[in-house]
Amino acid sequence: MGKVLVLNASYEPLNITSWRRAAVLLIKGKAERVEHNGRLLYAGFPLPTVIRLRHYVRVPYKEMPLTRRNLLHRDGHTCQYCGYTGDELTLDHVIPRSRGGGDSWENIVTACVRCNVKKGNRTPQEAHMLLRHLPRQPYSSLYFEVSKHLKSGLHQEWQKYVIGL
Ligand SMILES: [Zn+2]
Repeated sequence: MGKVLVLNASYEPLNITSWRRAAVLLIKGKAERVEHNGRLLYAGFPLPTVIRLRHYVRVPYKEMPLTRRNLLHRDGHTCQYCGYTGDELTLDHVIPRSRGGGDSWENIVTACVRCNVKKGNRTPQEAHMLLRHLPRQPYSSLYFEVSKHLKSGLHQEWQKYVIGL
């Protein structure tokens, strides 16, 4: 029994819920089934994997905290310079702090110890070390959660509802 992606009436992803809660929303008529995986809760009632609310819900935008854990997750625990994945990961300021680079999603990337030391106090251009991805702020914690599910191979059917992953 899996998790269910809940879409707003506008088809924007809203949150992730349990199949139980999703089934209740369907039975009460508060949501419609958008995708299911063919498994039945009971005869004639396939378990949903994506549902959509019938009424639009307003949600305040929540900003993702800039933490080491969140940065590592955004970068897939991969050095953004050489592609190394493993335990020896650090955070690198793309524009070094000493040169005015700030603490922001756009200026901090995951880097292995080797690349971090090699780059030193230089910009990627000066060090001839190009970033594999342009660092940016993640959309929301929901996108984070959804990307975790997708990366672990679960719920591929969610992909088409989440743009930019
Ligand atoms: Zn590296």
